[in-house]
Amino acid sequence: MKQFHVAYHNDTTFLNELEKIRQWRGSHRAYTTVFHIYCEDLNPALIAHICGILDTEMPDDLYLGCISNANILEGSLAKERYLITCTVFEYETTQAALLQYPFREENSREDVQNLIRFCESNPWVGSVEMLATIMGMSMKPFCDEMDRLPAHIQVFGGGACNPDLDNAAAGVFSKGNGFLAQGIVFLLLGGPDFHVHNMFISGWKPLDRRFHITRAVRETLYELDGQPALNIYRKYLNIENNENFVSNTLEFPLFIDHDGIDMLRCPLAVNDDGSLVMASDVEENTSVRLAYGDPETILHTICLDGQKVADFQPQAILTFSCAARRAFWGDANVSKETEPFQKIAPTTGFYTHGEFLRLQGRMLNFNVTLVIAAMREGDAPASEPVRLYKEDLKNLSKVPILWRFVSFIEASTADLEESNFKLTIAAITDGLTRLNNRTEIERQLSRALEEFNRGDTDGSLSLIMLDIDNFKMVNDIYGHQAGDLVIKTLADILRRTVVAVHSSSTGRWGGEEFMVLLSESGEAEAAEVAEQIRIRFANASFIGIPSQTVSIGVTQAKRGESTDTLCSRVDQALYKAKQEGKNRVVCL
Ligand code: GH3
Ligand code: MG
Ligand code: MG
Repeated sequence: MKQFHVAYHNDTTFLNELEKIRQWRGSHRAYTTVFHIYCEDLNPALIAHICGILDTEMPDDLYLGCISNANILEGSLAKERYLITCTVFEYETTQAALLQYPFREENSREDVQNLIRFCESNPWVGSVEMLATIMGMSMKPFCDEMDRLPAHIQVFGGGACNPDLDNAAAGVFSKGNGFLAQGIVFLLLGGPDFHVHNMFISGWKPLDRRFHITRAVRETLYELDGQPALNIYRKYLNIENNENFVSNTLEFPLFIDHDGIDMLRCPLAVNDDGSLVMASDVEENTSVRLAYGDPETILHTICLDGQKVADFQPQAILTFSCAARRAFWGDANVSKETEPFQKIAPTTGFYTHGEFLRLQGRMLNFNVTLVIAAMREGDAPASEPVRLYKEDLKNLSKVPILWRFVSFIEASTADLEESNFKLTIAAITDGLTRLNNRTEIERQLSRALEEFNRGDTDGSLSLIMLDIDNFKMVNDIYGHQAGDLVIKTLADILRRTVVAVHSSSTGRWGGEEFMVLLSESGEAEAAEVAEQIRIRFANASFIGIPSQTVSIGVTQAKRGESTDTLCSRVDQALYKAKQEGKNRVVCL
């Protein structure tokens, strides 16, 4: 595979360049030839003129192109507004074909069905490059349909994009099909000696906090965690809805979890209701995280992931990079993230309105991402692959202060979460016994009884109430501390005994009284548990204090009753146990 760059300045220079290609082909192995034409200028008349020259001068060659936000040549932002690259395939086995269709949301499935039919009747097709006008379209039906392509076919490409990001007008074109303001072109390539390695790189990193998409329709993101989506930008990043909103959110787009793949989505505009218009579809009931872009982190990722491209030893690299990345870096710096690829192989491409890549059989529509298609004919050479060294990370204009802040925030958040957790535990725990406190056991009781009354559980619910016998005497004779030790001992026995019972909870009701809630046990089972506790406590020994006993009341809830009647019945059972001589279990 051999690549030529053909500048279009005027017809004379263009014809000269084409002549050089013809000459090279005359003295080399040269078969299928494909021209890519990326136009940073929406001028269908000039495009038709260039295509006309190719039709006449190179009648056997294929060409395809689109309107682009900007072009990439030799791994850098190209100065030329018309970037024409010529790829000459050097293996006779490598085949190519073009398909072009009008492209609208309502017919996008049919376009894909045509593509599938073509691929099924041409088994040589191994990869599909796509250029399409996608602005304002939901790409979900298209992507879903693309999933039905034969599994081995790779797909990559980009959305045509006006040089002016606010202007939706764009277009695609290809040999024999003319220019379409709304269209899709597929370049099909394949053959036993043609190999493609593709991947996506974002470089943006997620912040830990997850937000749930509670409402979204197509590309409009209405609510996150039940709040207008704009609120997360306001609350967490102090980004207001003003004329700088889009450029501010570019540094903080959203990571959408798409079945385990983190996909970036950029807000393009804000509606009056605080909903966000995203660059492509978002799905309800998935989660998002804020992402942050930081030059050093991005370049680091590019060098790490880009090494996989280098190891493939390609002969040409096609890049589809989001126009948002260009806006993020600025024209002075944007080439830093594509230059490393030029060290591997001639790198061309364009800045897109959405990037496409098929991963494990699924068609994905990215934003703010760099999609790479590395191509090679024949086996990889025996030579060592290029190393993308860390030197590529030098000479950055921005300090990576951002990621220091991010790590500060994440560490602070972790601290806060920990103290929050401790506070929550403290609010529901009794200080002396570490059992639930009365408020918590009451809350659990009323919730369990509600469920029981609703009939959510088919079993029974029982309550055990305990009161240490003659406890005043312990305090009076042996002192308050000795009393505390006895209380703690009973708490430990409760913990050890009740833990074995499914759906149980224990709390200190007050003083030397305790309550055990068994949400899935009947009276008989509860009475057994109570008896076990009674025996264990009676057998417990204390240094310097004689053995102690406890009286226990047990009752089972009746459907429809209130916590008051339930608690008062268990209290009566306990009272009865005291009346009947203490150190016993009474059921009521
Ligand atoms: P009965 O067998 O009828 O239950 O007799 P009793 O002496 O245990 O009577 P009662 O339940 O009225 O006594 C509770 C005593 O528990 C009164 C109070 O001084 C003591 N007490 C309450 N909370 C604590 C505590 O946290 N530590 C200690 N050491 N004593 C407590
Ligand atoms: Mg008492
Ligand atoms: Mg008592």
